[in-house]
Amino acid sequence: MSLYDLAIVGAGPGGLHTAKWAAKKGLKVALIEKRKDISKMTRYCSEHIILDENYNGDTIIVEPGKPLNEKGWIDEDSVNKIRSSRWGWELTYKGALCPVRDKYYYSRNLKHHAHYAWPDRRPFAWKYDKAGLLQQILDEVLPLGVDYINETTCYQAIDNPSKVLLKCVSHGKRFTLEAKKLVAADGASAQVAQSLGMNEDRVYFASALTLAVYMSGVKDYSPEQWCGYWGLCYGSNFAPLMGTGPAGHFEWADVILIGHPKQMPWDLYEFFTKKSPVAYMFENAKIEQCHSCMTKAFSPMKKPYKGNVLAIGDAAAFVEVQAQGALNCGFWAAEAVAKELDGKPGFEEYTEKWLKTFEFNDDGMMQVTTGYALIPYYTDEQVEYLFSLLDGVTMDGSWSQYQSPRMMWREIHKHDERIKKERPDIWEKIVKQQARTLSDSMSQ
Ligand SMILES: Cc1cc2nc3c(=O)[nH]c(=O)nc-3n(C[C@H](O)[C@H](O)[C@H](O)COP(=O)(O)OP(=O)(O)OC[C@H]3O[C@@H](n4cnc5c(N)ncnc54)[C@H](O)[C@@H]3O)c2cc1C
Repeated sequence: MSLYDLAIVGAGPGGLHTAKWAAKKGLKVALIEKRKDISKMTRYCSEHIILDENYNGDTIIVEPGKPLNEKGWIDEDSVNKIRSSRWGWELTYKGALCPVRDKYYYSRNLKHHAHYAWPDRRPFAWKYDKAGLLQQILDEVLPLGVDYINETTCYQAIDNPSKVLLKCVSHGKRFTLEAKKLVAADGASAQVAQSLGMNEDRVYFASALTLAVYMSGVKDYSPEQWCGYWGLCYGSNFAPLMGTGPAGHFEWADVILIGHPKQMPWDLYEFFTKKSPVAYMFENAKIEQCHSCMTKAFSPMKKPYKGNVLAIGDAAAFVEVQAQGALNCGFWAAEAVAKELDGKPGFEEYTEKWLKTFEFNDDGMMQVTTGYALIPYYTDEQVEYLFSLLDGVTMDGSWSQYQSPRMMWREIHKHDERIKKERPDIWEKIVKQQARTLSDSMSQ
């Protein structure tokens, strides 16, 4: 049996980018993926490239290969560039792109909203075809000599001082693969890290069940907008979201419901589309496609390596690292492994980047709590009052789940004296909210 320099579990953005850059450095690489065809989405992702400056430590540049068509998006035969301005990698992406220029968070009955947009209308995100991009990276990786072993699940890794044994199963047949180093890029389920005991110190916060329904014929839908609906009148503690439909069908709306076992997403969908203040939008709408996924929030790994194994991307994260974050992790991981094989502390260097780059490794977690724990902590009427303070304000275009709530609260805090005077009930809640913990907010 041949001994690989590097085995990678998972051909998501993290694993594929590791494979590409490790193979370019001359390493003998095996890439193991449980799915048959990565050009088809199986786990839902809303598929945006996020352009926020210094988002998770990087600014991603997208250079479309064609101008916008008459519908306002870029056709699928366009050859585009995606570039990391901080780390220097570049990808060619042939496929459609739709600009996202406005983000609206509505209070009850669509009365008031928080609005994010750039004054010059430049997009802050592009909707794209993620599965198409992954297939295109794989097409680059194969000629580099990487052994791509798909339809194969790695169910256990055993680390020895000199090599790692990977126990795999493919079509019911079990086999063992050997490599000097292993990169676990198996996503949020983190099965490989689990089998090595690397998840033991991680705190489990909560699970979220996500349902995404692509719908045609939705009234008032604009593919350029990302909208969130805050209030129990919309049926859920987690704001139902509406964003751009999939590449090939940007004219469809993407209706996203986040629930949990006691508040199932289909029930939320029924309420949101039939009984909420936006039900009128769905009167003539048709369901075209449905996707779902489960997300578990564990505290991030502070030390994402153990022995010969490095966990990257979502496998080591608190919330999603996003495709662009996973691409960065893969880029660093290839270098880290090459250094380790050369007797240098590559994994330690990777860890330093990991801790410094991703906001969820520091105060980002608390910012998410404060920003998104609006419902049911505040009543619908109280959210309406808070959002009324944003009337006439357009905040800078931002996608970031860390930055946007900070920006919103910064605007609201400009009215502290007024809130204290007019609404001491709300002021008391704002003060108390600062002391809340992440698990408090997520367990509601
Ligand atoms: C609701 C939602 C919306 C999102 N929206 C966006 C967005 O708009 N933009 C964005 O950039 N990101 C978004 N993300 C996040 C993004 O999907 C992830 O952060 C990113 O894909 C992580 O990449 P990864 O390579 O670490 O893991 P993954 O993409 O999860 O890839 C892991 C791969 O490993 C394979 N695998 C798993 N276990 C095994 C095993 N045991 N053996 C073999 N193979 C295995 C899987 O099949 C998969 O191909 C979203 C996520 C969710 C849940």
